[in-house]
Amino acid sequence: MSAADRSKSVFAPDILSGQVAFVTGGGSGIGYGIAESLASAGASLALFSRNQERVEGAAARLAEKYGRPAIGTVGDVREPEALEAAVARTREELGSLDFLVNNAAGNFYAPTADLTVNGWRSVIEIDLFGTFHASRAVLPAMIESGYGRIISISMTLHYRGWPLMAHATAAKAGVDALTRTLAIEWARHGINVNAVAPGPIPTEGVKKAFAKPADASTDMFGERALDAFAERYIPVGRTGQPHDIGQMVTYLCSPGGDWVTGAIFVVDGGESLASPRAIPTHSNKD
Ligand code: NAP
Repeated sequence: MSAADRSKSVFAPDILSGQVAFVTGGGSGIGYGIAESLASAGASLALFSRNQERVEGAAARLAEKYGRPAIGTVGDVREPEALEAAVARTREELGSLDFLVNNAAGNFYAPTADLTVNGWRSVIEIDLFGTFHASRAVLPAMIESGYGRIISISMTLHYRGWPLMAHATAAKAGVDALTRTLAIEWARHGINVNAVAPGPIPTEGVKKAFAKPADASTDMFGERALDAFAERYIPVGRTGQPHDIGQMVTYLCSPGGDWVTGAIFVVDGGESLASPRAIPTHSNKD
C-alpha cells in the first residue's frame, strides 16, 4: 500500500453528518489530523487553542476542503471559563456539541532533578487539568442531549516509565485513570469516554522536543532521531501520521463505537510492545 492509499478514510463521508466535534489543540499536529478525519466523515468542527491565527486558519482550511462548518475558538485549556465560553459559542453557532477530543498537550524533556515546579505544573495543568476542565465544560450539553463521546489523547510512555518525562507520563497516567472513571460515572447520560494512545508521530511539537541539545551524546535527539528509531524499533517500520489517530477517533465517534467505553486504544505500530527503552539523559529545555 502506498502512502497515498494510507491517507484514505475508511468511513462513509456522511457517517457523522449533523454532529459537532470540539477538538482541543485542533489547529496543528495530531489534533489537526483528528479534525480532518472527523470533517471527512461529515462532522462540523470547533477547534480550540491559544494561537488565534493558527486555530482560525486551520478551521477555515478544513471548512473549505470538506464543505462542513468549522470555527476556530481561542483559549487555554487551563482556564475552565475559556472552555465554557468556547463550548457556548460552539452550541450557538454549530447547533450542538456531540464529540469532545482532549488533544491539547505540552511537553519537553527535562531531568526530574532540574524540573522547575512551574515546568511540572504547566504540563500537568495542560494535559491532566485541561482534560478535566474540557470534559466538565461539555458535560451540560451532553447531559441535555443524552448523548456524547469524549476521547482523550494519551500516550504509552507511562506503561513502563520514560526518563526526563516525569511530568508528561504522570499527567497521562492521570488521563487514563480519568477516562476509566468518567466512563463509569457518565455512562448513564449516554456519554462514552475512551482514550487513544499514539506511538511516535513526527509533529512539530515532537520535532521540537527531539531537537538536539549541544551536549547530547546519544542518538535520541536530532532531525533523524525519529526515523532511525522507527526503522529499528517500530515493528510496522514507520512512524505514525496524524491520520492514523484520526481514523481511530472517528471510529469511536461513529455508530461502531456505541458499545465501547472506558477503553484505551494503543495506536503505535507495535512500538510499545517491541522496542527496548533507550534511556535519554539530556534535557533540551532552554
Ligand atoms: P503539538 O504538535 O505540540 O500540538 C499541541 C497542540 O495543543 C497545539 O495545537 C497547541 O496549540 C495546543 N495546545 C498546547 N497547549 C495548549 C493549551 N494550554 N491550551 C490550548 N491548546 C493548547 O502536539 P502533537 O504531537 O500533535 O500531540 C497531540 C497529542 O498527542 C498530545 O496530547 C500528545 O501528548 C499526544 N501524543 C503525541 C505523540 C507524538 O509522537 N506526536 C505521541 C504520544 C502522544 P496552541 O499553541 O495554539 O495552543
